Amino acid sequence: MRAQPQASHFIDGEYVEDTAGTVIESIYPATGEVIARLHAATPAIVEKAIAAAKRAQPEWAAMSPTARGRILKRAAEIMRERNRELSELETLDTGKPIQETIVADPTSGADSFEFFGGVAAAALNGDYIPLGSDFAYTKRVPLGVCVGIGAWNYPQQIACWKGAPALAAGNAMVFKPSENTPLGALKIAEILVEAGLPKGLYNVIQGDRSTGPLLVNHPDVAKVSLTGSVPTGRKVYEAAAAGLRHVTMELGGKSPLIVFDDADLESAIGGAMLGNFYSTGQVCSNGTRVFVQRKIKGAFLARLKQRTEAIVIGDPMDEATQLGPMVSKPQRDKVFSYIEKGKAEGARLMTGGGIPNAVNTEGTYIQPTVFADVTDEMTIAREEIFGPVMCVLDFDDEAEVVARANATEFGLSAGVFTADLTRAHRVVDQLEAGTLWINTYNLCPVEIPFGGSKQSGFGRENSVAALDHYTELKTVYVGMGPVQAPY
Ligand code: NAD
Repeated sequence: MRAQPQASHFIDGEYVEDTAGTVIESIYPATGEVIARLHAATPAIVEKAIAAAKRAQPEWAAMSPTARGRILKRAAEIMRERNRELSELETLDTGKPIQETIVADPTSGADSFEFFGGVAAAALNGDYIPLGSDFAYTKRVPLGVCVGIGAWNYPQQIACWKGAPALAAGNAMVFKPSENTPLGALKIAEILVEAGLPKGLYNVIQGDRSTGPLLVNHPDVAKVSLTGSVPTGRKVYEAAAAGLRHVTMELGGKSPLIVFDDADLESAIGGAMLGNFYSTGQVCSNGTRVFVQRKIKGAFLARLKQRTEAIVIGDPMDEATQLGPMVSKPQRDKVFSYIEKGKAEGARLMTGGGIPNAVNTEGTYIQPTVFADVTDEMTIAREEIFGPVMCVLDFDDEAEVVARANATEFGLSAGVFTADLTRAHRVVDQLEAGTLWINTYNLCPVEIPFGGSKQSGFGRENSVAALDHYTELKTVYVGMGPVQAPY
């Protein structure tokens, strides 16, 4: 098997197997080939991983942030040196084209280790609070053992986006990748140890929705950071609440992307395509409700159709390929069922909707799809599809589009394309979302906070803000004189 790791789990600095766990088959989505066979973590494996993390964490927390950061920065360097190998593995894990993974996946993971490795020494300071002759000070202290649970769309990036701030702040992590993409996180764990990370601080265990609760409910776990769907988020939040554990929730979305009639048309179409077709549409922050002002609707749709039909679909390992398969058959079936609903509810299928020609029929390919004349109440305009399906809706004026854009339970992201920057700022000010873009879409460099509002979650990843979510404040009051007691 061409991507078989040494063993299923990586605990306390080494690969560990327990064949009593349920078999997880890793399937290359482009061919249907089984590329690795792993085992889900048994309760014994979960215990082993959490015990290793608990044991290793205090010594790590006692190191200076600079010393911790040096190791994370070394991990970033190794990831960059091995970018091709890691990108190929990410392509095998997910089916995403190498053209994408080579620029977007391990590289963004490396950015994360580099950023948090650098910022750790500057951003973990506390405050000095003068109180007359007395004073107080605060310390930012790590939480302890943190659990990361990942989705399948950006397996390596998610493993790093959670691991880097957690480790920089002095925590240990047990990370569970999605059962659909078990491979990438193991390599991240290996690289961290090679970079000098002491054993036990970054552990990876495999498993599915039945394994997650073993981690979330564990009494030694201080924090859970989940990337997943809203229904999973509700369950994990509820379970974490029972143990009063800290949580970060990076959940789904149905984000609006608003194109005003003065926008640069090619840029707006490019932004909408990136925000719907990149990673075969499997991006949480995608702008899947594209609101186009009526005056430019005809021109927008005509050019969008032309550009969409020119997308190169094919073998993900071919650098010319721009769109690969979906991650799995069940996910593709789900997307097809939404396409059928779109047609049945009266949306106009402009292009796509089926399986492309000239691809491996065992692969889970799907055409990039555009629906026009979508209205707010249609299922495809309300529910997260998580595939390459763009819904184009019409609008007339600013107040109307803002109200319609906000009429959703989700609040992950939003975007505005317009030449009028006053309007752009006025509109983003009113949009209910955690991450917004003006005249671009879906760019998430590590320097800026990323996360959602409303049902799309809370907490932030990336930027110094992420450190707040992996630390808590300890306040120390210092009395400098005699204690004045009334008794
Ligand atoms: P999912 O919710 O099915 O699974 C996510 C992870 O949670 C998996 O590892 C799964 O095994 C685990 N899990 C499932 N049930 C659990 C439970 N009860 N307790 C603990 N863990 C449990 O999501 P998915 O299908 O893997 O990913 C797609 C979803 O993720 C989409 O909704 C997408 O929008 C969202 N997502 C969000 C972000 C973000 O940053 N906001 C990023 C990527 C994906």
